[in-house]
Amino acid sequence: MEGDNISRGRRDERWQGIEPAPTRACRKRWTSHAAHERIPSPVRPASAPTRPRLSTEPHAVSSSKPSAEKLIVLDGSRGEGGGQILRTALTLSMLTGRPFRIAKIRANREKSGLRPQHLKAVEAAAMLCGADVAGAEIGSRDLVFRPGPIAPRDLTIDVGTAGSTSLILQTLHLPIALRAETAVRVVLAGGTFNPKAPPYPFLDQTWRGHLAHLGMPIALATPSAGFYPRGGGRLEAWIEPAQPRPWVRTTRGDLLRIRGTAGVANLRDDVAARLRARAIDRIRDQGWNADVAIETASWPSPGQGAAISLTAEHAGSTVATFVGIGERGKPAELVADEAVAELVAFLNVPDGAVDPHSADQILLPLALADGRSVYTVSEVTEHLRTNAETIRAFLDRAIIVEEAPVPGQPGRVIVE
Ligand code: ATP
Repeated sequence: MEGDNISRGRRDERWQGIEPAPTRACRKRWTSHAAHERIPSPVRPASAPTRPRLSTEPHAVSSSKPSAEKLIVLDGSRGEGGGQILRTALTLSMLTGRPFRIAKIRANREKSGLRPQHLKAVEAAAMLCGADVAGAEIGSRDLVFRPGPIAPRDLTIDVGTAGSTSLILQTLHLPIALRAETAVRVVLAGGTFNPKAPPYPFLDQTWRGHLAHLGMPIALATPSAGFYPRGGGRLEAWIEPAQPRPWVRTTRGDLLRIRGTAGVANLRDDVAARLRARAIDRIRDQGWNADVAIETASWPSPGQGAAISLTAEHAGSTVATFVGIGERGKPAELVADEAVAELVAFLNVPDGAVDPHSADQILLPLALADGRSVYTVSEVTEHLRTNAETIRAFLDRAIIVEEAPVPGQPGRVIVE
């Protein structure tokens, strides 16, 4: 039997009338079909303790009804003004039981409102917790999400476009890990190499590495790569039940090694060789005293694409991975240069323990951990600031982002 497959319309949608909310108020309630679940995963019992300190009492998880608590109201145009505000809100709404309304969704993006990848994240979250949702449609700039109790189970999600699979996985990961009692399998189809989203090599090397330090094991596989415009990549995740631990890391050890993969999908092998050669040349120009080993690969994929990942290993630190992604008409050398430039920017900050992309991503599990966390970052980004602000809207947690007055500088994050 297949897991819930939200791409094939297996959801039981009950239209529940109109409430004063989003434009063209379409309100849906997602419930799951037990018969479609691959492994019947029990719901955490109502009495199970929740570790994070919440700004209000969590709703009764034994209730099958979506939460009737007061809405948290979010402005999707604040700070970074992208999809991350919505995804963090979905994650925390599921975990706290607190409903939210978000207006001006992705207002700072060229095509604002919900794109397929964001809508799929909403649908997947709604499926996971039987939420009552209004405004879940492409282009919607206003959404209300009323979560029900999380019922972890295997899921199969097809983004339907080349949209990022990793961002959807990250939306679901914590609610599943914190509430599941047995391992849960999530299979996603879509993009695995997306600009401005975690590409698979980052997810597998760096995100997974951070999660391991936080005591949250996850296994990942990608039998097929997905590039724009064709998509069709496959990301498989096995999420273990876990509670995040706090984490302190304010220094970075010595640089030990830089390793990487230059890969192509349905392109000539010499493209991978050019990516590799250029990256090695540029890294050698820096004069770092570290081994450099970059392999070439040919990835199965329904489409075409090229990418290079560079992973820096430091003594005692989580690895940092930077990825350059090819595009039609963009020379392989430029793709390699972009990945090297990110790597150089990171390595030139001696005590930035965490890379700029991980910095905003690990904040969420750390905000749910029981105890104080502190980490230094090589660059304080708008994503980091914005994620901190969204988390504060749901959790009664002091999150301090210390930074220089000039943008793009190193900083320190403290979760009290
Ligand atoms: P948008 O609304 O911009 O279309 P989105 O839904 O992709 O975007 P953003 O709000 O921009 O969302 O969030 C993107 C997330 O992807 C952030 O957590 C960011 O750290 C992460 N990210 C972006 N680029 C990379 C990268 N190269 N490696 C790892 N993570 C990345």
